[in-house]
Amino acid sequence: MQIVIIGSGVAGVSFAEKYRMLSADTEITLVTREHDGYYSRPLLSRGFSRADIEQSIILKPFDKLRENNIHVLGGAEVTAINRADKSIAILVSSQEKQLHYDKLILAQGSAAFIPPPFRPYEKLFFCLNSLVDLKALRQFRQGFLNQNQQPHWAIIGGGLIGCEVASDLAAAGDKVTLFHAMDRLMERQLVDEDSALLLNVLQNADVKVLLNQAVQEFIQAGDKVCVRTEVTAKFDGLIVACGFKPRTELAQLAGLETDRGIKVNQYLQTSDESIYALGDVAELPNGKLYAFILPIRSQALWLAEFLSGQKQNRISSLPIATTLTSMDQREVEAWTPPIFTTKAKVHGFEAVHPYNV
Ligand SMILES: Cc1cc2nc3c(=O)[nH]c(=O)nc-3n(C[C@H](O)[C@H](O)[C@H](O)COP(=O)(O)OP(=O)(O)OC[C@H]3O[C@@H](n4cnc5c(N)ncnc54)[C@H](O)[C@@H]3O)c2cc1C
Repeated sequence: MQIVIIGSGVAGVSFAEKYRMLSADTEITLVTREHDGYYSRPLLSRGFSRADIEQSIILKPFDKLRENNIHVLGGAEVTAINRADKSIAILVSSQEKQLHYDKLILAQGSAAFIPPPFRPYEKLFFCLNSLVDLKALRQFRQGFLNQNQQPHWAIIGGGLIGCEVASDLAAAGDKVTLFHAMDRLMERQLVDEDSALLLNVLQNADVKVLLNQAVQEFIQAGDKVCVRTEVTAKFDGLIVACGFKPRTELAQLAGLETDRGIKVNQYLQTSDESIYALGDVAELPNGKLYAFILPIRSQALWLAEFLSGQKQNRISSLPIATTLTSMDQREVEAWTPPIFTTKAKVHGFEAVHPYNV
């Protein structure tokens, strides 16, 4: 039995480790474009106030997984899924490879969402979605620090990540202006009262918050970049933080059912009975994406138990591979989301009411 996993985030790594714990002899191969190891994505938004972040963010070097008999192909880009012969195409060190799977686990996570009007300006701004992004941002910022200057940043987006990044850059001593399209911050997660509290905390940290801002375009002006709303303002650096986009492209090309994410049933099975998806990339039958660490770990542990036969043995003798349409008739215990909450990592902010997740 050959299990192949695409992605080395919390979804892919937690699944691989749990499966290895439950089955000593299954071949497990994890393919990822990452080079640096398995890292904590939530810690990205503490990437400026913590000097040692590029080291401390690494939760596990890939060699630790290899010691656990998990094959890791790092620096490897999966370019296609070939469902007919159950293989994936990989580009590694400019060489094309094919890898056979019996079960394929899609855990490619999500990219930063770039609103269409901003796409022509991609060279003018940063995102903060991966360790590669963080390193690029830190290098850019270091250029200013080397000249005893603190850069002035524009952050576009007052959601969870935009607020966290604004707060951390301000904590690191930079000047920050936060543009948000809506009339209050983190309006999806927080009640009005907590949005007002958050605004207060950010303003007290010297973040300039501009609400109701429809950003129209970005303009390069020498070594500055301008943000045009009703007025135009100049900044040293620009970060777009407008949400995330599940990486559905490989699945789409392979003809799997997708919508906002890759569609799965309550057993995390895609429309192909040999392919499963979990984490940021998976869309459950209720249309929800569970893009937080706690439910993703729960999915990973559940799926490892399910595919290794642990759950099935306990509850039912039905075969694992059952297509979406016949799922309703099954009696195997499905994955159900755990009760969880989240917390914005904004320095000095505690919400009074529960978050909407
Ligand atoms: C700045 C930030 C702060 C956050 N803070 C929190 C928080 O405080 N609490 C919380 O619960 N959640 C937080 N989140 C969300 C959380 O980090 C994600 O939900 C979680 O990391 C998703 O894990 P994943 O394994 O599904 O995907 P990812 O972590 O995105 O991992 C996917 C992996 O797949 C690889 N990959 C993708 N495509 C390919 C390909 N074609 N070939 C090879 N490799 C590929 C990627 O390189 C990546 O390593 C935060 C996210 C961000 C960006």
